[in-house]
Amino acid sequence: MNQASPKRLFLFLSLLIPTIVFGIIFLYTQGHLRIYAALIGFLISFITAITLFVLINFLVLKKVNKLFTIVKTFRANSDHPSPSPKYSINEIHNLEVEILAWAEDRKDEIERLKKLEVYRKEFLGNVSHELKTPIFNIQGYVLTLLDGGLEDPTINRNYLERAEKSIDRMITIVDDLEAISQLETGELQIDPERFDIVSLAKDVGDAQEMKASAKGIVLTFPEEVKPIFVYADRFRIRQVFVNLIVNSVKYGKEYGETKIRFYDVGENIVVEIADNGIGIEKQHLARLFERFYRVDKSRSREQGGTGLGLAIVKHIIEAHNQTINVMSTEGAGTVFTFTMKKG
Ligand code: ADP
Repeated sequence: MNQASPKRLFLFLSLLIPTIVFGIIFLYTQGHLRIYAALIGFLISFITAITLFVLINFLVLKKVNKLFTIVKTFRANSDHPSPSPKYSINEIHNLEVEILAWAEDRKDEIERLKKLEVYRKEFLGNVSHELKTPIFNIQGYVLTLLDGGLEDPTINRNYLERAEKSIDRMITIVDDLEAISQLETGELQIDPERFDIVSLAKDVGDAQEMKASAKGIVLTFPEEVKPIFVYADRFRIRQVFVNLIVNSVKYGKEYGETKIRFYDVGENIVVEIADNGIGIEKQHLARLFERFYRVDKSRSREQGGTGLGLAIVKHIIEAHNQTINVMSTEGAGTVFTFTMKKG
């Protein structure tokens, strides 16, 4: 029935009904004029059926078609339209499937918006939680200074320095939040260029040398220093190296080692950053790249972490259409590997 067009059905009925009328008159009347009576009956019912057909076509089917076009256009212009359903020659059936597809899309859209709402609430909760600690610390130092501490030379400078540290922490959080929101909204455009990834990694290593040696950690690079060219956003990849190398030091063991290696695999270069630090329990690995996810919250905060570093790293790598992976053994160390397109 779905495949039968209402137009064809009406046309078929416009012939069937007059034929039946013709038959009834012809069979149930007497006299030599019955053929004319039957023909007149046929004609009258045929004209009536055709008039009805034209009227229905004009009043109903045209409107059905118009509605179909409106729903179809509306659905096609929505943010996430599903593929078009299978249409038939039955206009009413087409309108029905189009409305059902639209309703299904709405349902999916509502689900998506609900998830976004949960994410938004969670995100806001995390942000305020992260900012609360430095703000309360600053408030504490300022109040103590106002309550007479300002005149006490043994604490005034010290408290101001501590307040400054908390301000630095807030700046780090806000910078990371800005980076992640730009990356997530797609505002941040990747600006690729050809550059030597070995020298970039070494630059970052040199800049982190002080932090590493304070913990007795050595950063090692391949013995043979040959330039390896990649095609990527230099500034963003620097950020990736900073986050991964800083993490290897933050979560590294004293007198440990962070090895930075490069492997040539066809079209890509694989970069490996391996430490022999505290490692990560298997259960955490799948969620490690989520925003604000930390294995040990207090250790992370103590080390000045925001819980956003790996989320930023993953966004940057994915914005380059590349991948990042982590392997870790608790107590033995962690290895991060990411791919880069050769330049
Ligand atoms: P954070 O600011 O807390 O360091 P990240 O997003 O950079 O945030 O990392 C998320 C969590 O992953 C960290 O809190 C830490 O628990 C874990 N982690 C990251 N890198 C390492 C590593 N090299 N060794 C052990 N744990 C790590």
